[in-house]
Amino acid sequence: MPFASLVGNERIKKLLRRAVMEGRVSQGLIFAGPTGVGKHKFALALAQAINCENPKEGDACGHCPQCCKIAESEHVDVATISPDGQFIKIGQMRGMSSDAQFRPYEGRRRVFILDEAHRLKMEAANSILKILEEPPSTSLIILVTSKPYSLIETIRSRCQMLSFAPLADRELESFLAINYRRPAEDTRLLARLARGSIGRALEIDLGQYKEKRRLMIEIVEAVSIRRDTVRLLNAAEYMSRKLEREEFENHLDTLLVLLMDVFHLKLGRPTDSLTNADIPDHLVRIAEAVSLELIIDWVERIEELLISLTRNLNRHVAMDAMFVSL
Ligand SMILES: [Zn+2]
Repeated sequence: MPFASLVGNERIKKLLRRAVMEGRVSQGLIFAGPTGVGKHKFALALAQAINCENPKEGDACGHCPQCCKIAESEHVDVATISPDGQFIKIGQMRGMSSDAQFRPYEGRRRVFILDEAHRLKMEAANSILKILEEPPSTSLIILVTSKPYSLIETIRSRCQMLSFAPLADRELESFLAINYRRPAEDTRLLARLARGSIGRALEIDLGQYKEKRRLMIEIVEAVSIRRDTVRLLNAAEYMSRKLEREEFENHLDTLLVLLMDVFHLKLGRPTDSLTNADIPDHLVRIAEAVSLELIIDWVERIEELLISLTRNLNRHVAMDAMFVSL
């Protein structure tokens, strides 16, 4: 897909298009930024723009044989290299370095896209220093990573780094609205839950999210409005004994998002600016029943619980402690 059809990171789009027009694209590039914001798609768009037969203002046409082959991963001069298992290995990098020495076969320039470049093993990383130092003029290497500072300094210093940002809520929302058919209310909820990541938006199952949210609202209302400790203990029992660890954490994340909405309501933010803007009545009712201090206290306790889970603390013990304190 050409730059024009990609969403977000307009500054980088502009910068790359200008570099293509002026024929001064760096031959070693690092595309750094959070996962799911389109870094790999930008790398493909750049590969298209520099190989396109009818480029326009630094962007690809999207229709010529070069553009189509790149989009379908069938262009012999454009390769994506991903970790083989846990790591990108030295054999893969030796292969790339030797391929990069050849002239392009069907396009103008060879482009090598290294996905998850922070998974380069040390010896593999060292083996590409030379090609990054003196790349043949017809080759371009793009390292794509969410952890740029895990790359060794000698690689970073040989490349130009472009930092990608999460998408703005409205950018993500309009992308989802154009590409997927859903009620507007659900599109907005999804865009806000995904916090700027297209990748995350595509992974979220809204039906499952709403089911979790329903349970979490029940818990919060049981504590804050109805003072129903039996319901609370049942919920605690269900969550800590019945759910797999990942699901358990997802429930806590859902609870956290709800409480942050209540927190923002207490600070006077309008309901339509909240993540769960589709259930204003529940949020308002809870906000009216609890103090700001209490919400802050809950948020801190849940965050502590999530941290203790990453340390593999016994989840039943941690969970019981939290619910008792609520
Ligand atoms: Zn084209």
